Amino acid sequence: LKGSTDGMTATDKEIERALRPLSFSDFTGQAKILDNLEVFVRAAQQRGDALDHVLLHGPPGLGKTTLSHIVANELNANIKMTSGPVLDKPSDLAGLLTNLQPNDVLFIDEIHRLNPIVEEYLYSAMEDYKIDIMLDSGPNARTVQIKLNPFTLIGATTRAGMLTAPLRARFGISCRLEYYDARLLTSIVQRSSAILGTPIDEMGAYEIARRSRGTPRIANNLLRRTRDFAQVKGNGYINVEIAEIALSALEVDQNGLDDMDNRILSTIIEKFKGGPVGLSTIATACGEESETIEEVYEPFLIQEGFLKRTARGREATEKAYIHLGVVPNYKTGD
Ligand code: ATP
Repeated sequence: LKGSTDGMTATDKEIERALRPLSFSDFTGQAKILDNLEVFVRAAQQRGDALDHVLLHGPPGLGKTTLSHIVANELNANIKMTSGPVLDKPSDLAGLLTNLQPNDVLFIDEIHRLNPIVEEYLYSAMEDYKIDIMLDSGPNARTVQIKLNPFTLIGATTRAGMLTAPLRARFGISCRLEYYDARLLTSIVQRSSAILGTPIDEMGAYEIARRSRGTPRIANNLLRRTRDFAQVKGNGYINVEIAEIALSALEVDQNGLDDMDNRILSTIIEKFKGGPVGLSTIATACGEESETIEEVYEPFLIQEGFLKRTARGREATEKAYIHLGVVPNYKTGD
């Protein structure tokens, strides 16, 4: 149920596609980003130019891929999708770039994981719509310059801080996606239920929404699992009772924290006296990758006030102690 597409089946992916908003007006939330993007898209279209390059960053599952498709749709342009780790050699990138039609969109997911050599080729492509290609090697080696059609690069990353300065500087537009509040997620759940043909009342939608870690992808996944419970254990209709049954069976707690969120907090509190403790130590103790903790779990725990990041490491807050029903040592004087 995490905010990632790993391990999804073909049906999962098909449903995810069906639930994906296709236009600015279909997209809920991220109002500021949407307003700005709409202006930039219209302005570029009126001038007949390619839209400036766009960097979308923020935690997984908040709609970076969705927004990129929407931008391409609104530009009436094609979109080519790839990702940082897939672009192994400059020729992989050249192949994609030379196939773009004027003003098309190239979407590079996980752009912070680009091979540095490929990244360097991207600079001139982004800046001047040109690339230098090396032909042959050894004494016959020579470079030829290829002119590209004007295009828009949309880069997506969960780790904006890991982008090199020269790459970051080449994005004219940079948008940080935020977690969604429960009200926005409620309307996303209602919209998705309508598409899936599942009846749901407002309280049921709200219950799923408020326990979805502020993330539309998780809200949609929880909705689909709740739909299964409604079908098997109820009459197909989702209300707050069915949502409660499904969410507790899925081990999503009252605050929307899942098993790993709780494991992180209880590790810090029980094994490290509430912290501060380093990220890699937490990761080892929880059996999870540091990167995943930092990109997926920690931002939400910090935003919700369960965790603090200090110069000396991560610390559990009083809210975390209350949530886990543990009395802090400093309060008992231990
Ligand atoms: P990742 O970085 O993990 O690929 P992402 O940020 O690109 O995640 P998307 O794949 O765009 O996220 O969105 C995940 C799912 O959430 C999509 O299926 C989409 O239907 C849904 N979704 C995202 N944002 C919204 C939104 N604002 N309104 C409705 N549904 C949304």
